[in-house]
Amino acid sequence: MMKVGINGYGTIGKRVADAVAAQPDMELVGVAKTRPNFEAETAVRKGYPLYAAIEERMPRFEEAGIDVAGPVEDLVEASDVVVDACPSGIGADNKSMYEEYDTPALYQGGEDADLVDVSFNARSNFSEAEGADHVRVVSCNTTGLSRLFAPLVEEYGVEKARVTLVRRGGDPGQTGRGPINDILPNPVTLPSHHGPDVNTIFPDLNIDTLGMKVPATLMHTHSVNVQLEEVPTAEEVRDLLAEESRLFLIPESYDIDGAGKLKEFAMDQGRPRGDIWENCIWAESITVEDGVAPKGQQGGGGDAAGADLYLFQAIHQESDVVPENVDAVRAVLGETDAEESMATTDEAMGMGF
Ligand code: NAD
Repeated sequence: MMKVGINGYGTIGKRVADAVAAQPDMELVGVAKTRPNFEAETAVRKGYPLYAAIEERMPRFEEAGIDVAGPVEDLVEASDVVVDACPSGIGADNKSMYEEYDTPALYQGGEDADLVDVSFNARSNFSEAEGADHVRVVSCNTTGLSRLFAPLVEEYGVEKARVTLVRRGGDPGQTGRGPINDILPNPVTLPSHHGPDVNTIFPDLNIDTLGMKVPATLMHTHSVNVQLEEVPTAEEVRDLLAEESRLFLIPESYDIDGAGKLKEFAMDQGRPRGDIWENCIWAESITVEDGVAPKGQQGGGGDAAGADLYLFQAIHQESDVVPENVDAVRAVLGETDAEESMATTDEAMGMGF
């Protein structure tokens, strides 16, 4: 059994903890928190050993009636891999602690790419993380884009990608970010950080990204244009994407018009916390326009002239990185390959609608 500790038990950490606990080949050693709150209470009720991220604060947990298993250092020492799910920048502060105990660490997308040996997406570059000491599971948006680009790059080749990311202003629990009532070009300069972040997974991909923020908490939505080197039909692209376990093609017949109904659907399906681990791609939005090449040089049916692919996808920011963290544990420990790890993770979590 692979022993996994989680340092930082908030939006991402609590979900990764549940996913790790569900794996047949992993043991959740415990989770670390800075202070007692409803999430600490939930961890205890689930039977997860709770460690204090800041040792001097251990009495605060005891005052709140919460048993603490020890300081976070004990958790790090007892784990084969630690998943750091602390707020952006804190992971970098924690790096020396993981090094001190010689425990490989996974960080989240809020950390800088240059903190780590490798940035990770299971479908795209699983094997690059084998034996690495410091791995960054890329952000929710970069995860969503990488999962989409992987089959397109492999099957058709990508000349250029252009993506506008319409991002939620905050997570549902982030009251400090709202109320928000605005539509922000964010950042106002181009490209947004997302394109360069995708290049940490696909170094050669030619990609431009534009970011916006809107007053919503449910999900992000991407408007995607990919210039393909070949000319598939829209039906062929749909079939290709439908084969991917972490891409959900929303059937037209479901009458799901946005993130609200997607979340409602996930809750109706009994998903924990209403989570949607898959990219949600509107099947009828998948459109292929032949004729990227200048007029007179266009070809049809699979020659090098290329085609423009368009689609919309929604990304559940709180949960799409969760299965990726689970796979990154196996990748770092060199336990298995991408296909087997993803299949195990998907089966244990209940991936797919
Ligand atoms: P969060 O604020 O919900 O959770 C972070 C948790 O870490 C909190 O419980 C906080 O109390 C705790 N914490 C703070 N300092 C700590 C310390 N020194 N030691 C241990 N715990 C500490 O944040 P989050 O949304 O879960 O984000 C965590 C990371 O995941 C960030 O890098 C973020 O960029 C990334 N991420 C977030 C989302 C998202 O939409 N929420 C999506 C993908 C990736």
